[in-house]
Amino acid sequence: MILILLGPPGAGKGTQAQRLVSAHRLVQLSTGDMVRAAIASGSEVGCQIKTYYDAGKLVPDALIIAMFGERLAQPDCVRGAILDGFPRTVAQAAALDAMLAERGLTLDHVIEMTVDDEALIERIAGRFTCAACGTGYHDRFKPTKVSGICDTCGGMQFNRRADDKAETVRARLEVYNGQTAPLLPYFRAKGKLRSVDGMASIDTVGRAINAILEGHAG
Ligand code: AMP
Repeated sequence: MILILLGPPGAGKGTQAQRLVSAHRLVQLSTGDMVRAAIASGSEVGCQIKTYYDAGKLVPDALIIAMFGERLAQPDCVRGAILDGFPRTVAQAAALDAMLAERGLTLDHVIEMTVDDEALIERIAGRFTCAACGTGYHDRFKPTKVSGICDTCGGMQFNRRADDKAETVRARLEVYNGQTAPLLPYFRAKGKLRSVDGMASIDTVGRAINAILEGHAG
């Protein structure tokens, strides 16, 4: 199954992707994570993309398409994947179509998670992840059960993203509205697009997504 989670930064794509990974034994392909790993590695590509990332801008299509394509070609993607943060432009969507066709995969679902802009800024400002296992948390909406200790692995170090500062978040929202929102009519025209209310609780959103995947959503 190939599922695309589409939505602005902070809509909850990563959180829902993590839930689906365990429930459906699929891999999560997050281009944002790939970009952060490339920057952390200090590679030439990493240095090239850091300026875009820090400014909240999109990494050029050619670079991100190559990065994504390499990951999709790994053997763990044969059963399909959950795409979190890719595609983000119409050019990326067209490249994805070609990559899927080449591998005999089909796009099953595109799920848009809708959230209003003010809520997004609050959500993003409070989020952090475990440095050891990557489990995502939020100061207000999803704190660790025991303060300072990861529920999943017991890790005690946490990261906050450099691009989660309020001014960068505003730039990212503008980028979403300008460059990524045009994907909504693109996928709607293909008859693939469904929407869920991303303002609901994590569990409620998860149930709405499952209903779509199981084909009994209203
Ligand atoms: P995310 O973690 O998905 O919010 O992505 C964080 C940042 O990584 C974005 O603001 C971009 O700089 C870069 N990025 C991630 N995915 C893409 C993509 N599909 N196309 C271009 N840039 C991307």
